[in-house]
Amino acid sequence: MGPRLRGALDGIPVYRPGKPAAGSPGAVGAAYKLSSNENPYPPLPGVLESAAAAAASFNRYPDMACSALVEELAARLGVPAAHIATGTGSVGVAQQLLQATAGPGDEVVYAWRSFEAYPIITQVSGATSVRVPLTDGDVHDLDAMAEAITGRTRLVFVCNPNNPTGTVVRRAELERFLDRVPSDVLVVLDEAYREFIRDAEVPDGVELYRDRPNVCVLRTFSKAYGLAGLRVGFAVAHEPVAAALRKTAVPFGVSQIAQDAAVASLRAQEALMERVAALVAERTRVYEALAGQGWTVPDTQANFVWLRLGERTMDFAAACDRAGVVVRPFAGEGARITIGEVAGNDRFLTAAQEFRKEL
Ligand SMILES: *Cc1c(COP(=O)(O)O)cnc(C)c1O
Repeated sequence: MGPRLRGALDGIPVYRPGKPAAGSPGAVGAAYKLSSNENPYPPLPGVLESAAAAAASFNRYPDMACSALVEELAARLGVPAAHIATGTGSVGVAQQLLQATAGPGDEVVYAWRSFEAYPIITQVSGATSVRVPLTDGDVHDLDAMAEAITGRTRLVFVCNPNNPTGTVVRRAELERFLDRVPSDVLVVLDEAYREFIRDAEVPDGVELYRDRPNVCVLRTFSKAYGLAGLRVGFAVAHEPVAAALRKTAVPFGVSQIAQDAAVASLRAQEALMERVAALVAERTRVYEALAGQGWTVPDTQANFVWLRLGERTMDFAAACDRAGVVVRPFAGEGARITIGEVAGNDRFLTAAQEFRKEL
């Protein structure tokens, strides 16, 4: 008999990272990884230098409080430093939130399909997932989510824009929802793709949290900022929640390299905005080309598009694979395709067109 493990871990869905692009069998020429919503650009100006300088002292522990990063974020967001808590990516922070709020017998409400990490971190905590189906238009059904809240609910995730559909909830409906949620239930606004939003009606979570002590905003350096490999994200929340996040953090989890790279990235706003604008322009181009091919694509405010392919999903992913493009399929449902470099997007559009002809 082996060591006894917690029963809560049984049957946990295994997180499947985006497949590596290189060497996929049958790939034609260069392969493009459009499966993990990564940024195709190299680090922003000054970031590599900053990270390399920090690397010179990696015999030392990092600043456990992430002081420089927290101060920089507090100043930029106009919030008290005590309201910011960092973690190893925003998934790390989300896991800290679960540890701080929920355990066996508690419930965590989220839309489905949404971010794959939610069911995993919920189950690890021992709490029970309550999944509320998206609407027919692949948008969060906030009324149904409000109705799913019970006396056992401890936390609600709202992923805005939603991964993997790219759809958003807008200010009026989100405020109406927040007004309905009991004040002792934490609402986590996961804004991993915030920088890609162009719809002016989508609220900034940091504005919504200010007079709502039960709202927490999650942000990350992994997507627009292009630091996915360094693992740094943060939450903005009122003190009791932010303090609980500091208690549940992995000690010294965010490396000094990640902290310094994040600060340098924040100081490269102009270059960041240019890159995000270029990716948004590519998003529009890909969206319109797909529509022109006859696909129905939900409006996306993130750095990816969603194709609802149903039973054809795995065939589609295999066809893309053969064309040298790795996409993210969800068997029986659809595929999520990241907006990448122009050549990768072109390769994907060609594969989509070929597949369309066979339908
Ligand atoms: C990518 C993503 C994150 C960020 O993950 P990190 O841990 O910060 O790399 C968080 N939430 C959603 C919905 C995401 O898609």
